[in-house]
Amino acid sequence: MNYNVNEKGYYGDFGGAYIPEMLYPNVEELRQNYLKVMQEPDFQEEFKALLKEYVGRPTPLYYAKRFSEKYGTKVYLKREDLCHTGAHKVNNTIGQILMAKRLGKNRIIAETGAGQHGVATATVCALMGLECIVYMGAIDIKRQAPNVARMKMLGATVVPAESGSKTLKDATNEAIRDWINNPTDTHYIIGSVVGPHPYPDMVARFQSVISEEVKKQLLEKEGKENPDYVVACVGGGSNAAGLFYHYLDTPEVGIIAVEAAGKGIHSGESAATSALGKEGIIHGSKTLLMQTDDGQITEPYSISAGLDYPGVGPMHAHLFRSGRGEFISITDDDAMQAGLELCKLEGIIPAIESSHALAIFEERKFKKDDVVVVNLSGRGDKDLNTYIDYFKLA
Ligand SMILES: *Cc1c(COP(=O)(O)O)cnc(C)c1O
Repeated sequence: MNYNVNEKGYYGDFGGAYIPEMLYPNVEELRQNYLKVMQEPDFQEEFKALLKEYVGRPTPLYYAKRFSEKYGTKVYLKREDLCHTGAHKVNNTIGQILMAKRLGKNRIIAETGAGQHGVATATVCALMGLECIVYMGAIDIKRQAPNVARMKMLGATVVPAESGSKTLKDATNEAIRDWINNPTDTHYIIGSVVGPHPYPDMVARFQSVISEEVKKQLLEKEGKENPDYVVACVGGGSNAAGLFYHYLDTPEVGIIAVEAAGKGIHSGESAATSALGKEGIIHGSKTLLMQTDDGQITEPYSISAGLDYPGVGPMHAHLFRSGRGEFISITDDDAMQAGLELCKLEGIIPAIESSHALAIFEERKFKKDDVVVVNLSGRGDKDLNTYIDYFKLA
């Protein structure tokens, strides 16, 4: 079985490029060039230098001793929370801004939901001195004021999407409209392993630095490159794709993807796509997504903004359907408790997204000698208000 993308842009039954005709030239230009550009030595050199000097890579692979003792297995945390801007997202935006420059684009657009991808995009645009326009739902702009302020400080223009539900999908529609109108000078930076081919593959490759580092780091610490399990939360699936990437074809390494069950899988307020999703098309790719009987996309819910997405990237849909990945969904409550537990046991305040991955140890048992690598996708600073309200800390 092949778990990587094939020449046609599919992962098994999923993927492809289901786009309006007017977007075809933009996506096709990217498709024809992305691998060539990524393989250029000077691209690799610049990408690696920025990951090292600007992002702060390699991020540590930290053996969480007290957490491991509590759960009776060996848990390592891949510390993406220590990346510049506080999460893994910047690995991808650095890669894409270099791609944009190589393709001669000087104007960058992006869509953002909670604002994290908008901030990561505004950051790299400032770094490169490129114009940055971020589309964001009008409701999200109100809900996520600190990230809007960050984007503005970084020099981006934040454009409210006033149509529909005024959230992420409407912002995405606006960004696509912009790209259709500006085909020559503009690159659209997508923030996860979603969207039409080649985006899922391109983003997975940029994020694959995570598992490239884990292999080296585990070899040093455990004398072997392969853990028994890799565990990551899945919103669109980019931090998970990065951690899984170099282990996809190594069946001895178990792959565990963790989704947000929100208030419970069957509560009507969840984002557990593998449990609830059916085949459909979202953001230009065929994948599993939460939808009504007549195919309208269901509004997702999770306490963590980054997991609040009605689909998963096509790689993950394929990992689920083929059985290569084990999918677990975690409720808001269980994630919040796991986040607080990591604070108390290890002195690390995790993003609530990452807390979902940590929560599986309460229900999924591992053997004493198992080596389990969990992607700590981000830090909890951005979630402080949610933690405060939930635990009545103030
Ligand atoms: C955005 C985000 C996620 C979810 O996005 P993926 O593409 O699924 O990785 C997870 N964790 C953090 C900290 C995030 O900011």
